[in-house]
Amino acid sequence: MKNYDVIIVGAGAAGLMCAIEAGKRGRAVLVIDHAEKAGKKILISGGGRCNFTNLHTEPTNYICNNSRFAISALSRYTPYDFLALVEKHAIAWEERNHGELFCVESAGQIVAMLLAECESAGVSLQLNCTIQAVSKNDQFQLETERGMFRADSLVIASGSRSIPKMGATGFGHQIANQFGLNVTELKAGLVPFRLTGGEQERLRALAGISLDVSVSCNGHSFREQMLFTHRGISGPAVLQVSSYWGEGDTVSIDLLPGTDGFSWLSRMREERPGAALRTVLAERLPKRLVQYLCESLIRDQTLRRLSDTEIETVEESLHNWQLKPAGTEGYRTAEVTVGGVDSNELSSKTMESKKVEGLYFIGEVVDVTGHLGGFNFQWAWASGYAAGQFV
Ligand SMILES: Cc1cc2nc3c(=O)[nH]c(=O)nc-3n(C[C@H](O)[C@H](O)[C@H](O)COP(=O)(O)OP(=O)(O)OC[C@H]3O[C@@H](n4cnc5c(N)ncnc54)[C@H](O)[C@@H]3O)c2cc1C
Repeated sequence: MKNYDVIIVGAGAAGLMCAIEAGKRGRAVLVIDHAEKAGKKILISGGGRCNFTNLHTEPTNYICNNSRFAISALSRYTPYDFLALVEKHAIAWEERNHGELFCVESAGQIVAMLLAECESAGVSLQLNCTIQAVSKNDQFQLETERGMFRADSLVIASGSRSIPKMGATGFGHQIANQFGLNVTELKAGLVPFRLTGGEQERLRALAGISLDVSVSCNGHSFREQMLFTHRGISGPAVLQVSSYWGEGDTVSIDLLPGTDGFSWLSRMREERPGAALRTVLAERLPKRLVQYLCESLIRDQTLRRLSDTEIETVEESLHNWQLKPAGTEGYRTAEVTVGGVDSNELSSKTMESKKVEGLYFIGEVVDVTGHLGGFNFQWAWASGYAAGQFV
């Protein structure tokens, strides 16, 4: 039996950050992970370059039952705090779109940085270690295949269900249930949509096309790229909106965002009355997409024959193309899980359970889900930092 002040389950982004902060405070910290390597999701993130934060992080970039919950942690550990750590380790970084910060070389540098910080904070790490049971008397007790570990504080940083192949489990939700904490409804987020039946057949011909669109669902819109795939639609705009989508919902796609289609087509009708509608549309949209639209949504004809009402109909089809996904690709490919340990169960200052003294939840296991663009790691760092000050 070994005794620690703090045991953290999960050597991912949130768990390692918490371990560093608690270790710096002189706490005896053990991090346990069942995977053979620490930070596996960090390694595959951002296409291997890890989009480690976003300079424009705001609470509005997160989905949570309680919209105010994340404010405290996010304001105490900002993107600039993490950037300072990255710079301390001389890791080259670059800013891409919308304040997204990436490693120039490799996501592995972020994992190496976190492990180096853990080492200098005196953190112990047990990888490849399966936890068999968790209980609490005066302390928390973890039965593992390497024996029994005890601690005053237990931090659950075991992530959520997305990408089981990478070691993702429902462990954190089970622990929440075991100790009587509510877990909100879970679903895959930041995930491509699947189409089925005739719609999938017809749209399959568009696979590979990528274009700038605005996609909306349930009052949330994202203007970014959309990609047609063999199974449905994907790309950043679609991934973003998927976190707001529920079964049976329709998504609306604006194929010409920011363009006044009525003025444009009216002007074209005056300037080039003999041109075919499909020719003019193909000047702004990919040809294969225009062909699909003219076969299924829009009647092709020469511009001189188009009445104002017909132009309005074309514009409506282009600005508000309605698609009804059959579902998402699910946890297999989802970047995140929407939902988690109910934020009303936790202190927003410390991440400690209000019901069970010494039990903390941080990172993705909590019902705080970021938009695409580095926001999820920022939540992992910030919630890990917050708990690390108190465990
Ligand atoms: C393909 C992909 C790309 C992504 N890219 C980005 C990006 O560029 N930017 C961004 O902000 N976010 C990105 N994300 C999301 C981001 O990876 C997660 O939000 C973040 O890793 C969550 O951190 P975490 O520490 O809470 O959980 P995780 O990083 O998932 O860590 C959880 C740890 O717990 C361990 N664990 C799980 N169950 C058990 C158990 N029963 N016993 C012991 N250990 C256990 C796991 O092995 C893992 O090491 C990406 C996600 C994916 C899947």
